[in-house]
Amino acid sequence: MKVYNTMSRTKEEFQPIRSECVTIYSCGPTVYNYAHIGNMRTYVFMDILRRVLKLNGYRLRHVMNITDVGHLTSDGDEGEDKMEKAAKSQKKTPWEIAEYFTGVFFGDLKRLNIETPEITPKATEHIDVMIEFVKELCEKGYGYETSDGIYFDISKFPHYGRLSRANLEEQLAGASERVEVNTEKRHPADFALWKKAPKEHIMQWPSPWGMGYPGWHIECSAMSREYLGDCFDIHTGGVDHIPIHHENEIAQSEALTGKRSVNYWMHGEFLLVDNGKMSKSLGNTYTISDLIEKGYSPLAYRYFCLNGNYRNKLNFTWEALDAAQVSLNRLYEALAKHKNAEERLPEGTAEEWKKEFTDAVSDDLNVPLGLGILWKALRFPVKSKEIYDFALFTDQILGLSMEENAEKPAQNENPQEAELSPEIRELVNQRTEAKKRKDFKTADAIRDRLKEMGVTLIDTKEGVKIVTE
Ligand code: AMP
Ligand code: ZN
Repeated sequence: MKVYNTMSRTKEEFQPIRSECVTIYSCGPTVYNYAHIGNMRTYVFMDILRRVLKLNGYRLRHVMNITDVGHLTSDGDEGEDKMEKAAKSQKKTPWEIAEYFTGVFFGDLKRLNIETPEITPKATEHIDVMIEFVKELCEKGYGYETSDGIYFDISKFPHYGRLSRANLEEQLAGASERVEVNTEKRHPADFALWKKAPKEHIMQWPSPWGMGYPGWHIECSAMSREYLGDCFDIHTGGVDHIPIHHENEIAQSEALTGKRSVNYWMHGEFLLVDNGKMSKSLGNTYTISDLIEKGYSPLAYRYFCLNGNYRNKLNFTWEALDAAQVSLNRLYEALAKHKNAEERLPEGTAEEWKKEFTDAVSDDLNVPLGLGILWKALRFPVKSKEIYDFALFTDQILGLSMEENAEKPAQNENPQEAELSPEIRELVNQRTEAKKRKDFKTADAIRDRLKEMGVTLIDTKEGVKIVTE
């Protein structure tokens, strides 16, 4: 199988360190808030990677951290602690906040059929491992103390910036333009390994440098080493992590061990909403629960993600999600038709599809191509259980719960309460208006269009009754 390696900027043949078991580390969520659909896109990518590796015969030892100690609100080492900020505004302790959002996060993984990695360590349970790591770095001369913490001295690590090919001079200029420049740092790109805590900081632990808390990159270096060793196969995360978080992880890990820590760096591109960034102020940081409330099944969102290659940006719109829901419903309907059909396919057809599908997804996770092969099979002009079996084979990767849904078409989780999607609601309104105008031609055309989308309108004395499949 081939994977694209951010470090080499090329697609490479995947060669694991140990032939039988692949070691993976994925940057997990910071649990101070609900994960949004952009975050979940990155975890769908992580899940596809797992599934494709398994299809290629590997066993996995996969770690995904749970960051339950706060990062600071800026990428640098300034700003407020996100976890403490959330705790204050919700009048809870940071531990309560973390516990609640960790539960919600695992719930979202389940709804999206994202397999939980084998090991999901919490940062707060590994503070000792992090302190040891920082101590060793200091002993080796990579750390220095300032009045507010221990910093990594990037001038001692000549490879700094290799992943993003960052221009340190540019970073220097950028950093000095920022308002809060920590003047005690030797280089603006030096980053905190450990922060000394002021009294009011709630989450703090004893350390050789007094009470404090870990810098936000150290947990990934410390926990990946703890569970996967000095060198492991694959590290994943979103592209936003490349320039700072992952550069810093590399610097810490490789400075400590003197070895290359990760063989393949893989990054998922961003999800956009209406072609722009998601932001609180635009009110478009949707969660999986928001989609369910609007009447979509979570797997329609997964299906939507599968339509895009993980290395390309993907644009979320409600229309695109409508289309994904319609396609998913059609997929389940098609499966139901093939499930008990007796006809045989021409000799070798199913085997050929399996190979095509396996080759597609093993080529740097080309799932959109894989989906195309599935649809080609479903549209084959024969009804056959062999097609159904092939679809279930693809579901090892696609994770769309095909077996469970082959009889009953896709449903959202609570159809009674579910709102109709905005597009469907709009069409129903347009039809009502058309009928009022006695424009029955338009009204009927809209009714047919809705039927195609799996929505049946029944006119009753009380008004129009809407039945979704
Ligand atoms: P965080 O909890 O902020 O560390 O983010 C969790 C994961 O989501 C990280 O791997 C991020 O890179 C990723 N991420 C954040 N925003 C987006 C987005 N808009 N699209 C895709 N992935 C994202
Ligand atoms: Zn990380």
